[in-house]
Amino acid sequence: FLQDAPPSDLTADQLLDGLLTAEFSKRSCRSRYEFASYHEKKKNASHKPSPYLLGKLRRHEALQKRCGPGTAPYRAAVRQLKSGKGAAATDCRYLISISYRGLGNRMLATASAFLYAVLTDRVLLIHQYKQDISALFCEPFPGTTWLLPSGRSFPLGHLRDYGIGSNESLGNMLKANVISVGAHGNASWSDGGDRRPPFVYLHLEGGYDFHDKLFYCDEHQLLLHGAPWLLMKTDSYLVPGLFLVPSFQDELGRMFPEKDMAFFHLGRYLFHPVNDVWRAVTSYYRTNLAGVGQRVGIQIRVFQKKPTPLQHILDQVLSCVRREKLLPEITSSSKINASDQAILVTSLSAWYYERIREEYGGGRVAGGVHQPSHEGRQKWGDTSHDRRALSEMYLLSTCDVLVTTGFSTFGYVAQGLGGIRPWIMPSTPIWSESDLAEKKEVPEPPCVRAMSVEPCFHSPSYYDCTARRDVDVGKVVPYVRHCEDVSWGIKIA
Ligand code: GDP
Repeated sequence: FLQDAPPSDLTADQLLDGLLTAEFSKRSCRSRYEFASYHEKKKNASHKPSPYLLGKLRRHEALQKRCGPGTAPYRAAVRQLKSGKGAAATDCRYLISISYRGLGNRMLATASAFLYAVLTDRVLLIHQYKQDISALFCEPFPGTTWLLPSGRSFPLGHLRDYGIGSNESLGNMLKANVISVGAHGNASWSDGGDRRPPFVYLHLEGGYDFHDKLFYCDEHQLLLHGAPWLLMKTDSYLVPGLFLVPSFQDELGRMFPEKDMAFFHLGRYLFHPVNDVWRAVTSYYRTNLAGVGQRVGIQIRVFQKKPTPLQHILDQVLSCVRREKLLPEITSSSKINASDQAILVTSLSAWYYERIREEYGGGRVAGGVHQPSHEGRQKWGDTSHDRRALSEMYLLSTCDVLVTTGFSTFGYVAQGLGGIRPWIMPSTPIWSESDLAEKKEVPEPPCVRAMSVEPCFHSPSYYDCTARRDVDVGKVVPYVRHCEDVSWGIKIA
């Protein structure tokens, strides 16, 4: 066990300026303390986590350990849940995160659930689907697990089946008056005492209805405070929405004095690829990307039904890099001054990479043009596919310049972890032949510089709880604005 003792020689850099606890061994999860050496300090030197955030994280780690699976309070809380009674058994309260869709979506949802758990002093437990979390990520909290113990010991059935119609959702319980908020904002469980619901399901996905969106109101937050268990299902980055809840604003302001670095810190705190994914990242990096002056990452995500190469998408990429002078200009003269750059292309298709290599390979960029994989299509529930996706997100995050595809949560994670403001290419999904006929123009401009490194929240609530009407949520506070790539979404900038 000696080798697994916590290391005492970690530098402030390795600990990301105190963001990470030093309580883990190096061997158990190499990415945790090696991440910093692949992310140049100078780029993000000014974005240190606040002492207040560090204090919150250490206290949260203690909470996870005190109340997590295997502890007496956890067993008592599960017994309470099984009994169907709503009264809390202990002072430990829980948030179960159910995320779904591609890996980018799941990571954004998990980071959102984590922040909500920290804000509301709840233990975060992750529901995993076919080991989709443990095969990819190390445990973030020392001395405990963040994985919800599965199997028959847990009484709520198939968690993925919860949806808009579930009786236990906040929206449906409000509609059925099982729970209510009084005229003066005082919360109550309607029949009090023994008939309180044992848990509340938070349905927070796109297409959710009016009552589910009341999650973003102060009174309803007060109401939820009384629930010992919450289930949260989402595929989105809810954080900009949390910044709009008045009762969270003060705390969030202290945790993130630089509000637009929220995901940067949350993601770097929470996500650490397991050793074999990390080995793939670092060996690819050393072989293909190390040693050049500048790494340019190009993430090409085409939302289409049939994976066929699309010329207008390639034209958009080339037009973006030319217009923004991100790569050496290609002249007709035979004299080439190789730039001290390397290009990393990520895409499900190899075609774009091959065309980009024709343009910039052959010595035009000294470090060459690289694509780690081309998976052809998105595959659900396939661990090795997810591992490649994760390693590519991390490789993109090591770049100095990023070009990403709008709408893509895969790109959001890469930019957020790297602290890079990307050039975003607006994207239009192509679901049919007629879409293709209509939408093959290269947009003008082909890409725009992102306002911040934050991900976009695609499905915010527009309801102003105090005014009791919908408002323009891009104008409520100066630091939450409409996204560059999704006009109805909001982001912190
Ligand atoms: P989004 O759909 O672009 O928002 O991103 P998600 O990550 O949520 O879902 C897309 C999924 O498709 C990823 O998780 C990967 O499994 C796969 N995928 C998409 N683009 C790439 C890519 O460039 N490389 C790899 N390896 N997989 C990709």
